[in-house]
Amino acid sequence: MTEIELLEQSIRLHSRLYDKGTPLITDGEYDELVRKRHRLLGGDAAQPVAPAVVGAPVPAGSPKVAHPAVMLSLNNASDLLERAEAWHAIVRRTKDAEGYADLKIDGMALRLEYQDGALTGAATRGDGAIGENVFENALRIVDVPRKLRQEVSGRISVVGEAYIPNSHFILLNNDREQAGEEPYTSPRNTAAGGMRHSDPEEVATRGIRFFAYGLLHSDRPRGFSYHSEVMVWLAAMGFKVVEHGIGGLRTESDVEGAFSALLERSQDVGYDCDGVVVKLDNLAAREILGSGRTAPNWAFACKFAAKAERTRLNHVYFSVGRTGAVTPVGEVQPVVIGDVTVSRLTLHNKDIIDELDLRIGDSILVKRAGDVIPAVAEVFTDERTGDERRIEFPSVCPACASKLARPENEARICCRNTLLCPEQLQRGLEHFVGQDYMAVRGMGPALIRQLIAQGLVK
Ligand SMILES: [Zn+2]
Repeated sequence: MTEIELLEQSIRLHSRLYDKGTPLITDGEYDELVRKRHRLLGGDAAQPVAPAVVGAPVPAGSPKVAHPAVMLSLNNASDLLERAEAWHAIVRRTKDAEGYADLKIDGMALRLEYQDGALTGAATRGDGAIGENVFENALRIVDVPRKLRQEVSGRISVVGEAYIPNSHFILLNNDREQAGEEPYTSPRNTAAGGMRHSDPEEVATRGIRFFAYGLLHSDRPRGFSYHSEVMVWLAAMGFKVVEHGIGGLRTESDVEGAFSALLERSQDVGYDCDGVVVKLDNLAAREILGSGRTAPNWAFACKFAAKAERTRLNHVYFSVGRTGAVTPVGEVQPVVIGDVTVSRLTLHNKDIIDELDLRIGDSILVKRAGDVIPAVAEVFTDERTGDERRIEFPSVCPACASKLARPENEARICCRNTLLCPEQLQRGLEHFVGQDYMAVRGMGPALIRQLIAQGLVK
Protein backbone atom coordinates (compact mmCIF):
# COMPACT_ATOMS: atom_id res chain seq x y z
CA MET A 1 0.00 0.00 0.00
CA THR A 2 1.27 3.49 -0.79
CA GLU A 3 1.47 6.18 1.86
CA ILE A 4 -1.52 7.94 0.28
CA GLU A 5 -3.62 4.78 0.34
CA LEU A 6 -2.72 4.14 3.98
CA LEU A 7 -3.60 7.70 4.84
CA GLU A 8 -6.93 7.50 3.03
CA GLN A 9 -7.72 4.22 4.75
CA SER A 10 -7.00 5.86 8.08
CA ILE A 11 -9.11 8.94 7.21
CA ARG A 12 -12.07 6.75 6.23
CA LEU A 13 -11.75 4.68 9.41
CA HIS A 14 -11.64 7.69 11.72
CA SER A 15 -14.42 9.42 9.82
CA ARG A 16 -16.68 6.37 10.32
CA LEU A 17 -15.77 6.08 14.01
CA TYR A 18 -16.54 9.78 14.47
CA ASP A 19 -19.93 9.37 12.83
CA LYS A 20 -20.69 6.53 15.21
CA GLY A 21 -19.87 8.75 18.17
CA THR A 22 -16.82 6.66 19.14
CA PRO A 23 -13.87 8.69 17.79
CA LEU A 24 -10.40 7.46 18.70
CA ILE A 25 -8.49 10.58 17.71
CA THR A 26 -9.04 14.30 18.31
CA ASP A 27 -10.53 16.63 15.70
CA GLY A 28 -7.09 18.23 15.44
CA GLU A 29 -5.44 14.89 14.70
CA TYR A 30 -8.10 14.15 12.10
CA ASP A 31 -7.55 17.53 10.44
CA GLU A 32 -3.84 16.77 10.41
CA LEU A 33 -4.44 13.49 8.52
CA VAL A 34 -6.54 15.35 5.95
CA ARG A 35 -3.91 18.06 5.58
CA LYS A 36 -1.11 15.51 5.27
CA ARG A 37 -2.95 13.82 2.41
CA HIS A 38 -3.43 17.24 0.85
CA ARG A 39 0.32 17.89 1.06
CA LEU A 40 1.21 14.48 -0.37
CA LEU A 41 -1.07 15.16 -3.32
CA GLY A 42 0.89 18.36 -3.91
CA GLY A 43 -2.02 20.49 -2.80
CA ASP A 44 -4.32 18.79 -5.29
CA ALA A 45 -7.13 17.34 -3.25
CA ALA A 46 -9.78 17.71 -5.91
CA GLN A 47 -11.46 14.46 -4.93
CA PRO A 48 -11.43 14.40 -1.17
CA VAL A 49 -11.74 11.01 0.53
CA ALA A 50 -13.38 12.71 3.44
CA PRO A 51 -15.34 15.93 3.47
CA ALA A 52 -12.83 18.80 3.35
CA VAL A 53 -14.26 20.46 6.40
CA VAL A 54 -13.01 21.42 9.81
CA GLY A 55 -14.69 18.75 11.88
CA ALA A 56 -17.51 16.51 10.79
CA PRO A 57 -20.85 17.58 9.40
CA VAL A 58 -23.92 17.41 11.59
CA PRO A 59 -25.60 14.01 11.13
CA ALA A 60 -28.82 14.04 9.10
CA GLY A 61 -31.87 14.49 11.27
CA SER A 62 -30.10 16.51 13.97
CA PRO A 63 -31.21 20.12 14.51
CA LYS A 64 -28.76 22.47 12.80
CA VAL A 65 -27.58 25.98 13.58
CA ALA A 66 -25.53 28.26 11.32
CA HIS A 67 -22.65 29.94 13.14
CA PRO A 68 -22.45 33.76 12.88
CA ALA A 69 -18.74 33.35 12.05
CA VAL A 70 -16.85 30.21 11.05
CA MET A 71 -15.62 28.17 14.02
CA LEU A 72 -12.13 27.49 12.75
CA SER A 73 -9.76 24.65 13.47
CA LEU A 74 -6.06 25.22 14.24
CA ASN A 75 -2.92 24.43 12.31
CA ASN A 76 -0.60 22.13 14.22
CA ALA A 77 3.05 22.55 15.04
CA SER A 78 4.31 19.19 16.22
CA ASP A 79 7.89 19.84 17.29
CA LEU A 80 10.33 22.55 18.30
CA LEU A 81 11.21 23.38 14.70
CA GLU A 82 7.59 23.64 13.58
CA ARG A 83 6.73 25.78 16.60
CA ALA A 84 9.53 28.20 15.71
CA GLU A 85 8.40 28.28 12.06
CA ALA A 86 4.77 28.87 12.98
CA TRP A 87 5.74 31.69 15.33
CA HIS A 88 7.96 33.33 12.70
CA ALA A 89 5.15 33.14 10.14
CA ILE A 90 3.10 35.30 12.51
CA VAL A 91 5.87 37.68 13.57
CA ARG A 92 7.00 38.28 9.99
CA ARG A 93 3.73 39.96 9.13
CA THR A 94 3.00 41.91 12.30
CA LYS A 95 4.79 44.71 14.07
CA ASP A 96 5.30 44.29 17.82
CA ALA A 97 3.56 40.92 17.85
CA GLU A 98 2.77 39.60 21.30
CA GLY A 99 1.69 36.02 21.72
CA TYR A 100 -0.65 34.51 24.28
CA ALA A 101 -0.43 30.80 25.15
CA ASP A 102 -3.25 28.71 26.60
CA LEU A 103 -3.72 25.09 27.52
CA LYS A 104 -5.71 23.29 24.83
CA ILE A 105 -8.39 21.30 26.61
CA ASP A 106 -9.31 17.97 25.05
CA GLY A 107 -13.08 18.23 25.05
CA MET A 108 -15.81 19.34 22.69
CA ALA A 109 -15.92 22.87 21.28
CA LEU A 110 -19.16 24.75 21.93
CA ARG A 111 -20.53 28.12 20.91
CA LEU A 112 -22.87 29.85 23.34
CA GLU A 113 -25.08 32.66 22.16
CA TYR A 114 -26.25 35.49 24.41
CA GLN A 115 -28.91 38.03 23.47
CA ASP A 116 -28.96 41.09 25.75
CA GLY A 117 -27.08 39.09 28.36
CA ALA A 118 -29.32 36.00 28.37
CA LEU A 119 -28.30 32.58 27.06
CA THR A 120 -30.38 31.95 23.95
CA GLY A 121 -28.52 29.25 22.06
CA ALA A 122 -25.72 26.68 22.03
CA ALA A 123 -24.18 24.69 19.20
CA THR A 124 -21.37 22.24 18.51
CA ARG A 125 -18.71 23.13 15.97
CA GLY A 126 -20.02 20.67 13.36
CA ASP A 127 -18.27 21.41 10.07
CA GLY A 128 -17.29 24.89 11.25
CA ALA A 129 -20.07 26.69 9.36
CA ILE A 130 -23.05 24.71 10.65
CA GLY A 131 -23.22 23.05 14.05
CA GLU A 132 -25.70 20.95 15.94
CA ASN A 133 -28.16 22.69 18.23
CA VAL A 134 -27.39 21.55 21.79
CA PHE A 135 -29.14 24.35 23.69
CA GLU A 136 -31.16 22.09 26.02
CA ASN A 137 -28.01 20.19 26.96
CA ALA A 138 -25.91 23.33 27.45
CA LEU A 139 -28.48 24.55 30.00
CA ARG A 140 -27.42 21.61 32.22
CA ILE A 141 -23.74 22.57 32.37
CA VAL A 142 -23.13 24.15 35.78
CA ASP A 143 -20.38 26.45 34.45
CA VAL A 144 -22.53 27.96 31.70
CA PRO A 145 -24.13 31.20 32.95
CA ARG A 146 -27.74 31.57 31.85
CA LYS A 147 -27.42 35.27 32.43
CA LEU A 148 -24.26 37.34 32.20
CA ARG A 149 -23.26 39.15 35.38
CA GLN A 150 -23.41 42.57 33.76
CA GLU A 151 -25.75 44.04 31.20
CA VAL A 152 -24.51 43.39 27.70
CA SER A 153 -26.76 44.70 24.96
CA GLY A 154 -26.90 42.99 21.60
CA ARG A 155 -25.75 39.57 20.55
CA ILE A 156 -22.46 37.83 21.37
CA SER A 157 -21.11 34.32 20.78
CA VAL A 158 -18.75 32.91 23.38
CA VAL A 159 -16.66 29.89 22.43
CA GLY A 160 -15.12 27.34 24.75
CA GLU A 161 -14.70 23.69 25.56
CA ALA A 162 -17.08 21.25 27.23
CA TYR A 163 -15.06 18.66 29.16
CA ILE A 164 -15.20 16.16 32.00
CA PRO A 165 -12.70 16.36 34.90
CA ASN A 166 -10.59 13.18 35.17
CA SER A 167 -11.66 12.52 38.77
CA HIS A 168 -15.32 12.49 37.75
CA PHE A 169 -14.56 10.35 34.71
CA ILE A 170 -12.98 7.69 36.92
CA LEU A 171 -16.04 7.68 39.21
CA LEU A 172 -18.35 7.36 36.19
CA ASN A 173 -16.44 4.35 34.92
CA ASN A 174 -16.31 2.72 38.35
CA ASP A 175 -20.10 2.98 38.45
CA ARG A 176 -20.40 1.54 34.96
CA GLU A 177 -18.10 -1.36 35.72
CA GLN A 178 -20.00 -2.11 38.91
CA ALA A 179 -23.20 -2.15 36.89
CA GLY A 180 -21.62 -4.49 34.34
CA GLU A 181 -21.72 -1.82 31.65
CA GLU A 182 -18.99 -1.18 29.14
CA PRO A 183 -16.68 1.58 30.43
CA TYR A 184 -16.57 4.91 28.60
CA THR A 185 -13.53 5.23 26.35
CA SER A 186 -12.31 8.72 27.27
CA PRO A 187 -13.40 11.93 28.99
CA ARG A 188 -13.53 13.70 25.63
CA ASN A 189 -15.77 11.12 23.94
CA THR A 190 -17.98 11.00 27.00
CA ALA A 191 -18.32 14.79 27.06
CA ALA A 192 -19.05 14.88 23.32
CA GLY A 193 -21.58 12.05 23.62
CA GLY A 194 -23.25 13.74 26.59
CA MET A 195 -23.55 17.09 24.82
CA ARG A 196 -25.29 15.44 21.86
CA HIS A 197 -27.35 13.03 23.95
CA SER A 198 -31.11 13.06 23.41
CA ASP A 199 -31.61 13.17 27.18
CA PRO A 200 -30.18 16.52 28.42
CA GLU A 201 -29.98 15.12 31.97
CA GLU A 202 -27.00 13.05 30.77
CA VAL A 203 -25.00 16.30 30.87
CA ALA A 204 -25.48 16.55 34.63
CA THR A 205 -25.02 12.80 35.17
CA ARG A 206 -21.73 12.84 33.28
CA GLY A 207 -20.58 15.95 35.16
CA ILE A 208 -19.80 17.98 32.04
CA ARG A 209 -18.09 21.33 32.71
CA PHE A 210 -17.19 24.30 30.52
CA PHE A 211 -14.24 26.64 30.04
CA ALA A 212 -14.59 29.74 27.85
CA TYR A 213 -11.64 30.61 25.62
CA GLY A 214 -12.81 33.44 23.41
CA LEU A 215 -15.39 35.65 21.79
CA LEU A 216 -16.26 34.32 18.34
CA HIS A 217 -18.62 37.06 17.30
CA SER A 218 -20.23 40.25 18.48
CA ASP A 219 -22.88 42.23 16.63
CA ARG A 220 -21.28 45.51 17.70
CA PRO A 221 -17.83 46.78 18.75
CA ARG A 222 -17.02 46.01 22.39
CA GLY A 223 -13.84 48.05 22.56
CA PHE A 224 -11.38 45.19 23.09
CA SER A 225 -7.84 45.56 21.76
CA TYR A 226 -6.37 42.35 23.14
CA HIS A 227 -7.43 38.74 23.57
CA SER A 228 -6.17 38.89 27.16
CA GLU A 229 -8.71 41.68 27.81
CA VAL A 230 -11.47 39.48 26.42
CA MET A 231 -10.51 36.71 28.86
CA VAL A 232 -10.64 39.07 31.85
CA TRP A 233 -14.02 40.35 30.65
CA LEU A 234 -15.42 36.82 30.19
CA ALA A 235 -14.38 35.95 33.75
CA ALA A 236 -16.13 39.11 34.99
CA MET A 237 -19.26 38.03 33.07
CA GLY A 238 -19.39 34.80 35.07
CA PHE A 239 -17.53 32.31 32.89
CA LYS A 240 -14.83 29.97 34.02
CA VAL A 241 -12.02 30.81 31.63
CA VAL A 242 -9.17 28.55 30.57
CA GLU A 243 -6.65 28.76 33.38
CA HIS A 244 -2.89 29.36 33.39
CA GLY A 245 -2.71 31.45 30.17
CA ILE A 246 0.69 33.06 29.58
CA GLY A 247 0.87 36.39 27.74
CA GLY A 248 3.61 38.72 26.56
CA LEU A 249 5.37 36.21 24.28
CA ARG A 250 7.71 37.99 21.89
CA THR A 251 10.48 35.63 20.88
CA GLU A 252 10.83 32.04 19.80
CA SER A 253 12.29 31.20 23.19
CA ASP A 254 9.33 32.89 24.94
CA VAL A 255 7.04 30.54 23.01
CA GLU A 256 9.20 27.55 23.95
CA GLY A 257 9.21 28.65 27.59
CA ALA A 258 5.42 28.97 27.66
CA PHE A 259 5.05 25.57 25.98
CA SER A 260 7.25 23.87 28.59
CA ALA A 261 5.58 25.65 31.49
CA LEU A 262 2.08 24.72 30.26
CA LEU A 263 3.13 21.13 29.54
CA GLU A 264 4.17 20.88 33.18
CA ARG A 265 0.97 22.57 34.38
CA SER A 266 -1.14 20.18 32.33
CA GLN A 267 0.04 17.24 34.46
CA ASP A 268 -1.94 18.37 37.47
CA VAL A 269 -4.85 20.49 36.27
CA GLY A 270 -7.17 17.50 36.64
CA TYR A 271 -8.54 17.48 33.10
CA ASP A 272 -7.12 16.32 29.79
CA CYS A 273 -5.16 18.74 27.67
CA ASP A 274 -3.79 17.74 24.28
CA GLY A 275 -1.50 20.69 23.77
CA VAL A 276 -0.97 24.42 23.91
CA VAL A 277 -2.56 27.08 21.70
CA VAL A 278 -0.38 30.05 20.84
CA LYS A 279 -2.31 33.03 19.49
CA LEU A 280 -1.67 36.62 18.64
CA ASP A 281 -2.90 38.79 21.51
CA ASN A 282 -3.48 41.94 19.44
CA LEU A 283 -6.94 41.70 17.84
CA ALA A 284 -6.29 44.33 15.15
CA ALA A 285 -3.18 42.42 14.05
CA ARG A 286 -5.30 39.26 13.79
CA GLU A 287 -7.48 41.06 11.23
CA ILE A 288 -4.40 41.83 9.15
CA LEU A 289 -3.22 38.21 9.16
CA GLY A 290 -6.67 36.85 8.40
CA SER A 291 -7.60 33.19 8.06
CA GLY A 292 -7.16 30.30 5.70
CA ARG A 293 -10.00 28.00 4.71
CA THR A 294 -9.94 25.91 7.87
CA ALA A 295 -7.61 27.69 10.28
CA PRO A 296 -6.60 31.22 11.28
CA ASN A 297 -3.17 32.57 10.30
CA TRP A 298 -2.74 34.18 13.72
CA ALA A 299 -2.75 31.07 15.91
CA PHE A 300 -1.44 27.52 16.01
CA ALA A 301 -1.67 24.48 18.24
CA CYS A 302 1.42 22.82 19.71
CA LYS A 303 0.49 19.26 20.46
CA PHE A 304 1.84 17.30 23.38
CA ALA A 305 3.48 14.04 22.40
CA ALA A 306 0.69 11.47 22.28
CA LYS A 307 0.72 8.89 25.01
CA ALA A 308 0.81 6.03 22.57
CA GLU A 309 3.09 3.06 22.01
CA ARG A 310 3.36 0.26 19.51
CA THR A 311 2.80 -3.28 20.66
CA ARG A 312 1.33 -6.57 19.48
CA LEU A 313 -2.06 -8.15 20.11
CA ASN A 314 -1.22 -11.61 21.44
CA HIS A 315 -4.53 -13.05 22.51
CA VAL A 316 -8.19 -12.23 22.95
CA TYR A 317 -10.44 -13.60 25.67
CA PHE A 318 -14.01 -12.82 26.61
CA SER A 319 -15.00 -11.58 30.03
CA VAL A 320 -18.49 -11.83 31.49
CA GLY A 321 -19.83 -8.86 33.45
CA ARG A 322 -22.26 -8.74 36.35
CA THR A 323 -25.23 -8.14 34.06
CA GLY A 324 -24.09 -10.76 31.55
CA ALA A 325 -22.39 -8.52 28.98
CA VAL A 326 -19.62 -10.50 27.26
CA THR A 327 -16.74 -8.21 26.32
CA PRO A 328 -13.65 -8.98 24.22
CA VAL A 329 -10.42 -8.22 26.09
CA GLY A 330 -7.12 -8.03 24.25
CA GLU A 331 -3.86 -9.22 25.79
CA VAL A 332 -0.91 -7.30 24.39
CA GLN A 333 2.85 -7.50 24.71
CA PRO A 334 3.22 -5.43 27.93
CA VAL A 335 4.17 -1.86 27.11
CA VAL A 336 4.74 1.24 29.26
CA ILE A 337 2.57 4.16 28.20
CA GLY A 338 2.89 7.34 30.23
CA ASP A 339 4.28 5.52 33.31
CA VAL A 340 1.58 2.82 33.37
CA THR A 341 2.20 -0.71 32.13
CA VAL A 342 -0.52 -1.85 29.77
CA SER A 343 -0.89 -5.59 29.24
CA ARG A 344 -4.58 -5.87 28.46
CA LEU A 345 -7.23 -3.58 27.10
CA THR A 346 -10.90 -3.69 26.28
CA LEU A 347 -11.74 -4.16 22.62
CA HIS A 348 -15.29 -2.96 23.35
CA ASN A 349 -17.40 -4.91 20.85
CA LYS A 350 -17.55 -6.58 17.47
CA ASP A 351 -18.45 -3.39 15.59
CA ILE A 352 -15.33 -1.60 16.75
CA ILE A 353 -13.12 -4.64 16.05
CA ASP A 354 -14.58 -4.84 12.53
CA GLU A 355 -14.06 -1.12 11.94
CA LEU A 356 -10.41 -1.44 12.96
CA ASP A 357 -10.06 -4.72 11.04
CA LEU A 358 -8.16 -5.95 14.09
CA ARG A 359 -6.68 -9.47 14.13
CA ILE A 360 -4.74 -11.50 16.66
CA GLY A 361 -1.03 -11.08 15.98
CA ASP A 362 -1.43 -7.57 14.55
CA SER A 363 1.02 -4.78 15.30
CA ILE A 364 -1.04 -2.03 16.86
CA LEU A 365 -0.73 1.46 18.27
CA VAL A 366 -2.16 1.63 21.78
CA LYS A 367 -3.13 5.03 23.07
CA ARG A 368 -4.08 5.87 26.61
CA ALA A 369 -7.14 7.83 25.66
CA GLY A 370 -8.03 10.47 28.18
CA ASP A 371 -4.96 9.47 30.15
CA VAL A 372 -6.99 6.69 31.69
CA ILE A 373 -8.13 3.85 29.48
CA PRO A 374 -5.85 2.21 26.93
CA ALA A 375 -7.40 1.67 23.51
CA VAL A 376 -6.30 0.51 20.08
CA ALA A 377 -5.79 3.67 18.02
CA GLU A 378 -4.37 2.10 14.90
CA VAL A 379 -3.76 -1.29 13.30
CA PHE A 380 -0.69 -1.59 11.08
CA THR A 381 -2.33 -3.81 8.48
CA ASP A 382 0.57 -3.28 6.08
CA GLU A 383 2.87 -5.13 8.50
CA ARG A 384 0.89 -8.36 8.40
CA THR A 385 2.80 -11.57 7.78
CA GLY A 386 -0.22 -13.71 6.98
CA ASP A 387 -0.10 -15.51 10.34
CA GLU A 388 -2.67 -13.18 11.91
CA ARG A 389 -5.96 -14.73 12.96
CA ARG A 390 -9.45 -13.24 12.93
CA ILE A 391 -11.08 -12.68 16.31
CA GLU A 392 -13.81 -15.28 16.64
CA PHE A 393 -16.73 -14.34 18.82
CA PRO A 394 -18.11 -17.14 20.98
CA SER A 395 -21.69 -18.27 20.38
CA VAL A 396 -21.93 -19.61 23.92
CA CYS A 397 -20.97 -18.05 27.26
CA PRO A 398 -17.32 -18.74 28.16
CA ALA A 399 -18.40 -19.27 31.79
CA CYS A 400 -21.63 -21.29 31.63
CA ALA A 401 -21.89 -22.38 27.99
CA SER A 402 -25.42 -21.05 27.59
CA LYS A 403 -26.27 -19.49 24.23
CA LEU A 404 -25.32 -15.81 23.86
CA ALA A 405 -27.78 -13.21 22.60
CA ARG A 406 -27.27 -9.83 20.99
CA PRO A 407 -29.89 -7.32 22.21
CA GLU A 408 -31.53 -5.46 19.36
CA ASN A 409 -29.76 -2.24 18.29
CA GLU A 410 -26.85 -2.96 20.61
CA ALA A 411 -23.27 -3.79 19.81
CA ARG A 412 -22.75 -5.99 22.88
CA ILE A 413 -23.51 -9.67 23.33
CA CYS A 414 -24.98 -11.09 26.52
CA CYS A 415 -25.23 -14.23 28.58
CA ARG A 416 -28.87 -14.52 29.64
CA ASN A 417 -28.25 -17.23 32.24
CA THR A 418 -28.63 -14.61 34.96
CA LEU A 419 -29.20 -16.95 37.87
CA LEU A 420 -26.70 -19.72 37.25
CA CYS A 421 -23.81 -18.25 35.25
CA PRO A 422 -20.81 -18.51 37.66
CA GLU A 423 -19.09 -15.41 36.28
CA GLN A 424 -22.21 -13.27 36.66
CA LEU A 425 -22.57 -14.61 40.20
CA GLN A 426 -18.93 -13.82 40.89
CA ARG A 427 -19.18 -10.24 39.60
CA GLY A 428 -22.51 -9.75 41.31
CA LEU A 429 -21.12 -10.91 44.67
CA GLU A 430 -17.96 -8.86 44.25
CA HIS A 431 -20.22 -5.89 43.65
CA PHE A 432 -22.37 -6.79 46.65
CA VAL A 433 -19.56 -7.27 49.16
CA GLY A 434 -17.79 -4.27 47.66
CA GLN A 435 -20.53 -1.97 48.88
CA ASP A 436 -19.59 -0.12 52.05
CA TYR A 437 -22.79 -0.99 53.86
CA MET A 438 -22.14 -4.70 53.49
CA ALA A 439 -18.60 -4.50 54.86
CA VAL A 440 -18.14 -8.27 54.58
CA ARG A 441 -14.60 -8.65 55.83
CA GLY A 442 -12.38 -11.28 54.32
CA MET A 443 -14.82 -11.86 51.47
CA GLY A 444 -12.45 -11.28 48.55
CA PRO A 445 -12.83 -12.39 44.92
CA ALA A 446 -10.78 -15.56 45.60
CA LEU A 447 -13.03 -16.70 48.44
CA ILE A 448 -16.14 -15.93 46.38
CA ARG A 449 -14.73 -18.02 43.53
CA GLN A 450 -14.11 -20.90 45.94
CA LEU A 451 -17.63 -20.73 47.37
CA ILE A 452 -19.20 -20.69 43.91
CA ALA A 453 -17.03 -23.62 42.78
CA GLN A 454 -18.14 -25.63 45.79
CA GLY A 455 -21.77 -24.83 45.03
CA LEU A 456 -22.13 -22.96 48.30
CA VAL A 457 -23.42 -19.81 46.67
CA LYS A 458 -26.37 -19.87 44.32
ZN1 LIG B 1 -22.85 -17.29 31.33
